[in-house]
Amino acid sequence: CGIVGYIGLPEKTSQHGALDVLLEGLRRLEYRGYDSAGVATVASGTVSMRKKSGKLANLLSEIEAEPVAEASVGIGHTRWATHGAPNDLNAHPHLADGGKLAVIHNGIIENFAQLKAKLLAAGEVFASETDTEVAAKLIAQHFTATGGDLTEAMRLAANQLEGAFTLLAVHADQADRVVASRRNSPLVVGLGDGENFLGSDVSGFIDFTREAVELEQDQVVTITTDDVAIINFDGSPAEGKRFSVNWDAAA
Ligand code: GLU
Repeated sequence: CGIVGYIGLPEKTSQHGALDVLLEGLRRLEYRGYDSAGVATVASGTVSMRKKSGKLANLLSEIEAEPVAEASVGIGHTRWATHGAPNDLNAHPHLADGGKLAVIHNGIIENFAQLKAKLLAAGEVFASETDTEVAAKLIAQHFTATGGDLTEAMRLAANQLEGAFTLLAVHADQADRVVASRRNSPLVVGLGDGENFLGSDVSGFIDFTREAVELEQDQVVTITTDDVAIINFDGSPAEGKRFSVNWDAAA
């Protein structure tokens, strides 16, 4: 039910680590309600993923027991289960492409059963009961087919999906970006200096920036350390609407 994404410059010492940003964002988004939480970061060509049912505190103990690598890019999720029980396996992120791709999702993919049947027939193996894992598999297929273009892979997958979704993806082989898509589900971009953010709403990054960009429906956004690029689902370029957050965030 809550989503955060982050990318920053690894070499800039004033920068925050991805994990801290993600956990702080998830804490801010707790008010939306959730039954599980998880994070994935990318460092040295590897995705580190931790996820746990229950409160954020459970995820924190999991990370304490098994720390994730220092990273400057990652995604975080709180889940409100719609497809599959609220357990550790169904918690997000969901991995694909041999563990190199991590995907999180808020919403419901209405046509997931048809898509899943096709993927199963093609020999894909699923680790969860979620509708989300179908999206992860599709993004992975397109990532391979496009020769490693996560933005295009996300766009192609989004075009196959019906329903409501905010999807975020990171890939170990293209770790300079976090890519997101949105249809009938909330997503905002937070603008930083040498770092950029994604959130279900501005509270996901309010501790780090108050400059934000609003997306329209059916758009894909790619954030890198110094750029925010928005395209429509048909591939045409788009511009978001800039705004500043002027409310006072409570501690
Ligand atoms: N439909 C997805 C699931 O059940 C995402 C739910 C959510 O919005 O958190 O895993």
